[in-house]
Amino acid sequence: MNLKQIEQTLTQKRAELAGRADRLQQDITRQSSPLEEDWEEASIQRENDQVLDALDDETRAELQQIDRALGRIREGKYGQCEKCSGPIAAERLEALPYATTCVKCA
Ligand SMILES: [Zn+2]
Repeated sequence: MNLKQIEQTLTQKRAELAGRADRLQQDITRQSSPLEEDWEEASIQRENDQVLDALDDETRAELQQIDRALGRIREGKYGQCEKCSGPIAAERLEALPYATTCVKCA
């Protein structure tokens, strides 16, 4: 397992997600302008807000996961399950480099 490489991948992914979170935040702030008078317009606006909020939550959750994984690398515990301390399968880490739990604990 090439930790340097993984750390690099995670750091890149983190920057990407942070940029996305910023853009989402801007969109959400822009959209929180008063709702349209028109009922239909207003309902579209509200739906959009919900989508943006969900995306924002998702992005933030992913960012947190990446931070945890980067923390695990620094602690020298990368690839070790947070819950049972067992090893996380290499295939799982390949598919999900920021996984901090094994398949059983996920
Ligand atoms: Zn586990």
